[in-house]
Amino acid sequence: MKQELADFLNMDLQFIRGVGPVLAARFNDVLGGRRVLDFLLHIPSSVRNRGITECVMTSTHGDTITIPLLVKSHKQGGTFGRGRRRPTQITCADKSGTPVVIQFFNSSYLDYWLNKLPIGTWRIVSGKIEIVAGRATINHPDFIEEMQNAEKIPLNQAIYPSGEGLTQKTFANVRDQIFVALPEKLNGVDDQTREFFDALRHVHFPESNDDLAPGSTYIAKLAYWELLAHQSAIVLSRRKRDDVKNRRSVRPKKYDLISKMRAVLPFELTGAQNRTINEIFADMSGDTPMMRLVQGDVGSGKTIVALAAAVKMAESGAQTTLLAPTDTLAMQHFAKLKPMCDKIGIVCDVLTGRDKGNARKEKLISLRSGRTKLVVGTHALFSNDVEYRDLGLVIVDEQHRFGVSQREALRAKGNNPDLLALSATPIPRTLSMTIYGDMDISVINEKPAGRLPIKTTKLPMARVGDLVSHIRPQIESGAKVFWVCPLVEESVESDMTAVQTRFESLKAVFKNVGLVHGQMDKKTRDAVMQQFADDKSGMNILVATTVIEVGIDVPQATIIVIENAERFGLAALHQLRGRVGRGSSQSYCVLIYGDNISSDGLKRLNVLCETDDGFIIAEQDLMMRGVGELLGTKQSGWIQYHFVDYREHRDLFRLASSAARNDNVGPWTHDLMNIFDCGVNVGA
Ligand code: ADP
Ligand code: MG
Repeated sequence: MKQELADFLNMDLQFIRGVGPVLAARFNDVLGGRRVLDFLLHIPSSVRNRGITECVMTSTHGDTITIPLLVKSHKQGGTFGRGRRRPTQITCADKSGTPVVIQFFNSSYLDYWLNKLPIGTWRIVSGKIEIVAGRATINHPDFIEEMQNAEKIPLNQAIYPSGEGLTQKTFANVRDQIFVALPEKLNGVDDQTREFFDALRHVHFPESNDDLAPGSTYIAKLAYWELLAHQSAIVLSRRKRDDVKNRRSVRPKKYDLISKMRAVLPFELTGAQNRTINEIFADMSGDTPMMRLVQGDVGSGKTIVALAAAVKMAESGAQTTLLAPTDTLAMQHFAKLKPMCDKIGIVCDVLTGRDKGNARKEKLISLRSGRTKLVVGTHALFSNDVEYRDLGLVIVDEQHRFGVSQREALRAKGNNPDLLALSATPIPRTLSMTIYGDMDISVINEKPAGRLPIKTTKLPMARVGDLVSHIRPQIESGAKVFWVCPLVEESVESDMTAVQTRFESLKAVFKNVGLVHGQMDKKTRDAVMQQFADDKSGMNILVATTVIEVGIDVPQATIIVIENAERFGLAALHQLRGRVGRGSSQSYCVLIYGDNISSDGLKRLNVLCETDDGFIIAEQDLMMRGVGELLGTKQSGWIQYHFVDYREHRDLFRLASSAARNDNVGPWTHDLMNIFDCGVNVGA
């Protein structure tokens, strides 16, 4: 890419006039980055028309209107009651003489507003109109302009998905400056680059909502390029890997550990586990590094499969690292693996952010010396001082939580080590090739023998009382219950009271109830979870926000209650449900929904009541996408695209995939991969 253009795209937004470091930080929260490029990839979600309305009575309550008004009188708000302020009211009239009152509740900029609206003048005012009992009001108008400046009000205003402290005017200002500066940066670029930025300009200046629909010409073009970037990255990474010759030939088998492992397992492996392990072993004796994804529903027994791979590695003396997304999960893996490793005779260790000082140093020395054969850990494993004698295998648990670049950062600590990714998120068959095209896939589609399907029902919030009396006897006879209350980011406080209230009300009935949420410090949280997992503690109910998430293993838990289940996406609900049904007794899942559940929300709950099959759920999830942001989408394992719509652009997936395979990856494709930050090291 032309240097001047690249520099511009990488420029920090704080250098744009009217932005500065504070706003740039806010942009970072919304855009996930603070460069001009991040802004360009964040497109409006709708268009608000601000064409002129002459008479207020032709509009409807709730409309956004733009209307010429004659200012009649000012009435300054005062204080009344307990220090609450009366709104300042400016009474105006439209062309027909119908009164329209403009109100300001916030007094900080009062003089400014009053100056903008002098008595006896005509002004163009734009904002949301409220008509109650024939009285028209506009609260805090979006625009107030003198008549001759009417064109300052955008006829079709692009509305950007925003966050705290960022107004639509700020978005428009940044956009305008970027697109004023851009043409100069595009001097002398090739046609494709020009076409790309031209498409971006069209979607940042939409004329109607149709321009922003997935089917519109420019969105579809951008979606195709985005897919092409990702597909090309996959193809490249695959080609790169096929070029690597394996070093296994220099690593002969020294010990016989696999048969030892089979002897110490406390259960028979399922057919699917055996098949997957065989596929892994075949990869490991092949002549290019393994890159395998194991997909299996929660509870299908992926941990043992991972252990088998690590043990196989240890047979030649090489080391394995297992990356887990949270401390809790890492500790849990370690607790499970350590006793088995002890029996097999390989050294297993754990490394998390909690390890400090000398203890940590010793762990690192043991890794460096090659003595530790399996290390389980979290982000702490990325640290520069973590070195291996011979890292042969990288295992990534719940791999969708980590980007390709992170998994590659770990692999870089060895000499082209094998990669094994574990995922509890099934990807619909139609998509797995295009999303995980650089990996081979094994599916564990069989649960350990004796597992009963989880019985799932849905229940309106009003019947929670019935539910409590219903599960009471079960709890008294020892059943363990997860009780999940969701948190929505915008209103953490009110949600916290919801969790707290539920906790108090359950405690009134059941006495020994645990509570965990994200605001607690990790130590306390882990201690409570430990207590819940412990049979002797008498704690049978754990009220939790989604911090219990993926992977927590309490096999004795047989009931999960999920409040406001309608707020979660299908995949997230399926994951949560997987917290139960891990033992041989019958388990139950109760989905509680609020009054204002949408028909899509209801559909999702019905899917869960009907099926337990992760693949069917994933397929349904895909078909129902586009119903707005759902809780837990990040956990659901889908790549978050800027322009691609999973439902509407399915044909583009196929097109881009075949184009990428036939392309010899020229400069334009490289540019695209950089633009869309595909996370694959595409260098030479
Ligand atoms: P996940 O696939 O969700 O990571 P785990 O590996 O944590 O599942 O296994 C879930 C539970 O099932 C664990 O308690 C594990 O010990 C047990 N398990 C795994 N494989 C078998 C098997 N073949 N037979 C019986 N129990 C098994
Ligand atoms: Mg697991």
